[in-house]
Amino acid sequence: MAKPKLLFLDIETSPYLIRSWGTYETDALEILEEVKVISFSYRWLGGRTVTWSGDQHTEEQLLRHIGAVMEGADAIVAHNGEQFDMRVIRGRMLKYGMLPPKPVKIIDTLKIARKHFKLPSNRLDALGAYLGVGRKLVHTGYNLWKGVLAGDKKAWKMMRRYNAQDVELLYRVYMKLRNWTGDQTYQLYPHGYCGACGSGALQARGTYRTKTLTKARLCCTKCGSWTSVTVPKQRVSSHAKTTAVRGKRNRTGSAVHGGAS
Ligand SMILES: [Zn+2]
Repeated sequence: MAKPKLLFLDIETSPYLIRSWGTYETDALEILEEVKVISFSYRWLGGRTVTWSGDQHTEEQLLRHIGAVMEGADAIVAHNGEQFDMRVIRGRMLKYGMLPPKPVKIIDTLKIARKHFKLPSNRLDALGAYLGVGRKLVHTGYNLWKGVLAGDKKAWKMMRRYNAQDVELLYRVYMKLRNWTGDQTYQLYPHGYCGACGSGALQARGTYRTKTLTKARLCCTKCGSWTSVTVPKQRVSSHAKTTAVRGKRNRTGSAVHGGAS
């Protein structure tokens, strides 16, 4: 079975450059520079390397590169990805008159953490610490961004490490969370395989009923993820079946006729 192409993505942005009358909880009078994408990092599920792109490229080149990478993905994992990364990326693409990137499912580790657990904090750094898989790289705060925007080579080197570590941490956190999140990942693998890890070793663990359906509960013996499948209803009589098929055929027929006239 082909593995899904799962992309782990993180962007870094520059801050707004504004004019204001005040210095504390103040309104911007004028935006001199918008928030821009200044670098991004990504890796693939099953891949070993983190790729980074930043100071050697214009923002438009970075966005085109991101678009091309997204083209190869079945789904994208990002922390706060829908609210932040994807919206920033789309907004900046819009600015340059670029075409929309391929729409793919965003698997948001922040949403997963919020939905299923009550943890001390849902920030990526805190999740990494809580799960014992690493931390974000400590940096010099705004000074790092200041150095980067001034083109300082050392600062860019740091930004590269910081951005790449974010993606690596994202990947590790996701791997810890994924068997808790069948609803986020179930469509990554074909029917009959575990939605979290792709294993075919699913064990039936009883059934339950919803208002209209009977569902079989399945547990993956490899990763412990739970999923369910609909149990087919009892065979309908052959007469009812024939009527249903005819009805469908008739509808299709009239639609074709209508379109041709
Ligand atoms: Zn599994």
